[in-house]
Amino acid sequence: MIFQLTKRMLMETDKRLLFKFAYNFGWKGIGAVRAFDRRVRKGEQFPAFLFLSITNNCNLKCQGCWVTPSVPALELATADIENVIDTCKRHGSYFFGIMGGEPLLYKGLFDLIGKHPDCYFLIFTNGTLLTDEVAREMRRLGNVTPLVSVEGTADVSDVRRGGSDVYSHAMHALENCSRNRLITGVATSVCKSNFKDLASEKFVNELIAKKVHYLWYYIYRPVGRIPHPELTLDRNEILELRKFIVNTRTTAPIAIVDSYWDHLGRALCPAATGIGYHVNPAGYLEFCPPIQYAKENIRDGNLSELVKKSEFLAGFRKMASSSSRGCILLENPVLMAKFIVDQKAINTSGRCAGIEELEAMKCCASHHQPGEEIPEKHWAYRMAKKYWFFGFGAYG
Ligand code: SF4
Repeated sequence: MIFQLTKRMLMETDKRLLFKFAYNFGWKGIGAVRAFDRRVRKGEQFPAFLFLSITNNCNLKCQGCWVTPSVPALELATADIENVIDTCKRHGSYFFGIMGGEPLLYKGLFDLIGKHPDCYFLIFTNGTLLTDEVAREMRRLGNVTPLVSVEGTADVSDVRRGGSDVYSHAMHALENCSRNRLITGVATSVCKSNFKDLASEKFVNELIAKKVHYLWYYIYRPVGRIPHPELTLDRNEILELRKFIVNTRTTAPIAIVDSYWDHLGRALCPAATGIGYHVNPAGYLEFCPPIQYAKENIRDGNLSELVKKSEFLAGFRKMASSSSRGCILLENPVLMAKFIVDQKAINTSGRCAGIEELEAMKCCASHHQPGEEIPEKHWAYRMAKKYWFFGFGAYG
């Protein structure tokens, strides 16, 4: 599998991009995690990765999307993003997930990326604006990879995304990426309506045929304006998804990404470990993208100081990690709502009904299923997860 995937990467992508990926993302990413681990051992906090939602502007209306569009759109100022990136670099963190809304609607995105050739950027996009010209620009920059959302087959996708022809637009985007020899990813949020289509060998093979190099599986969270709780996966489906991921990693020449389980199959919440946080389009520093509460804003000070002094983030890490190894948002939204009220945190969602939304959420299954852990079978994932994706002391 590793040999075939390496061969695919060498044959299908631009060598300069491959080098940037290996060095900026791989090598520096390992350094970032080590630096993070050292900080944690000293009782300090600063994330190894940062997710920046640069705009709330979007051209789709997906089910379960937590982003509330506004007129005019909320956008992070370029100067604020630059400050954050510079601070991260000083801490040895060079990887940024660029989210939205739809980040390709943000003017000046590629100028910003071009100013930081020593970093690596992953752009979460719905693909509708990923034209040949945009893909060509990504190739010119070299330090960026598109992660295109695909939410199921054509019919399911249009319902899930709240648009028409979204699936064919995403497929076009993938063609533009492969024509321009980009390192390309697909992200899927697995829910009841797309489970059978997405957690399948057929889907994985289709992506390989389209020259996709990595596939990132998310578990659907019923949040936002239109939460659709009926789409939430149950315990058995999550277990089935885990089995599928572990088995596919041993056979398919494509990298399969998840951010939920360690090498032994034990659950993790990345934010509870403190390894990554999220900045929303208004500049609020959040625990993770779907939990829209904060007490700090990057406009109010240096990111390093904000993280260091944040009692809210520290309290959230403690509360989330002591309640479960899984996702507190799914497992215990009421406990989370209580914490948020006690902390007098600001509702950063742009919707009035923040706490009511949380209190109305039912407790659901998450990826934490004690006694049902499925360890990684492939040595490469076992090693990678053991050394670069683990609990960092968050779970005692
Ligand atoms: S709380 Fe849930 S959604 Fe947020 S980082 Fe943890 S596992 Fe992910």
